[in-house]
Amino acid sequence: MNVKKYLTVLVAAAIVLPAASCAFREKTVKRSDFALNTLINITVTGKSADSAADAALAEIKRIDALMNTHSSKSALYALNCASAGERVRVSAEIFKLIKTSAQISEKTGGAFDITLKPVADLWAIGTENPRVPQSGEILGALEKTGYENMILNEEDCTVEFKKDGMQIDLGGIAKGYAANRAAEILKNAGIKSALLDLGGNVYAVGQRSDGQRWRVGLQTPWKTRGEYFKTVSVSDTSVVTSGAYERYFEDNSEIYHHILNPENGYPSKSGIQSATVICTDSALADALSTAVFVSGSEGARRIAENFDNVKIILYTDDGEILEY
Ligand code: AMP
Ligand code: MG
Repeated sequence: MNVKKYLTVLVAAAIVLPAASCAFREKTVKRSDFALNTLINITVTGKSADSAADAALAEIKRIDALMNTHSSKSALYALNCASAGERVRVSAEIFKLIKTSAQISEKTGGAFDITLKPVADLWAIGTENPRVPQSGEILGALEKTGYENMILNEEDCTVEFKKDGMQIDLGGIAKGYAANRAAEILKNAGIKSALLDLGGNVYAVGQRSDGQRWRVGLQTPWKTRGEYFKTVSVSDTSVVTSGAYERYFEDNSEIYHHILNPENGYPSKSGIQSATVICTDSALADALSTAVFVSGSEGARRIAENFDNVKIILYTDDGEILEY
C-alpha cells in the first residue's frame, strides 16, 4: 500500500469508527405516549436505550389492548357479557391478574374490588358524561358486585360469576402490572437506569445515570402539577399514588372522584386525599394504593401490617402527612 492509499484508509477508518462506537456508548432516551387512560413517560439510559425503550412501550400498549373492556375482541369483554354460572375461559395472563386481585381483595377486607364496574359505569367518571346516579340505581348496581361472587378455576383458566350482570375492571391494577412488565423488559435488555412513569404509577429501575438514587416527588393534592409535599429516594422499586384529584367531576359544588367505596358505591370519603404505596411489586402497589385510599388511616395501618415490605404515605383532608 502506498502512502496516499494508506492515509485514505486511515481517514476513512477515523470517520467510520466514531459512528460505529456510538452504538456502544451509553445514552439517555425518552418516550411519551398515551395508554391505559393516562400519559406514559419513559426515560432510559444505557447502550441499548433506544430499542429497550421501544420494547417497554410496546409492552405497555399490548397490556392496554388486553385490558380494554370496550373491544369485543378482548378477553374481558367476553367475560363481562357472561351470565351467572357460565364458565368463561381467559388467557393465563389475565387469569393470574384476576386471581392476584381477588387475593388482594381478601387481604384488604374488600377495599380493593375489581367487580365494581357496574357501579363505576353509572358514575361514568373519566368520560364526557359523568353524573350523580340515583341512590336506587347504585343499590341495584351494588347487587352485581363483590369479589367473593367470582369463582376462579385455576385448572382451565376459567372465571364464573355467581350473579347476572357482574363485570370486571382491572383499572385499579393495570398500570402497576404494565410497569412491572416494562421494568422486566428493560432489565432483561441490560438497562441499569430507567424511570417509568405511567400517570403517577412510577417504577424506578436501578439508579439515575449520575449514580444517585431516583427521587420521586409526591404530588400535593389539588395543587399545581409538580408541587410536591414530599420527595422519596428510591431504587429498583415502585411508588404509586391514588388521589381524589386524579379524576373527578363537580356537581352542585360537590366533588365526585373515581375511587369508589365498595361498601356503598359512592366515591370514597375516608379522610384522606391521596395514598402512596412504595414496594417492589408495582401491581401490588397500584392495587394497595386504591385500597388504602378507600380504607383511610386506620385501614392503612392494618394493610401495612398485612403486607411485608410495603411503605404507606397518606395525605389527609387536613393536609397532615401520615406514614406507616
Ligand atoms: P387508581 O387510580 O389506581 O387508584 O385506580 C382507580 C381505578 O380503579 C378507577 O378509575 C376504577 O377504574 C377502579 N376502581 C375504583 N375504585 C376501585 C376499588 N375500590 N377497587 C378496585 N378498583 C377500583
Ligand atoms: Mg391503583
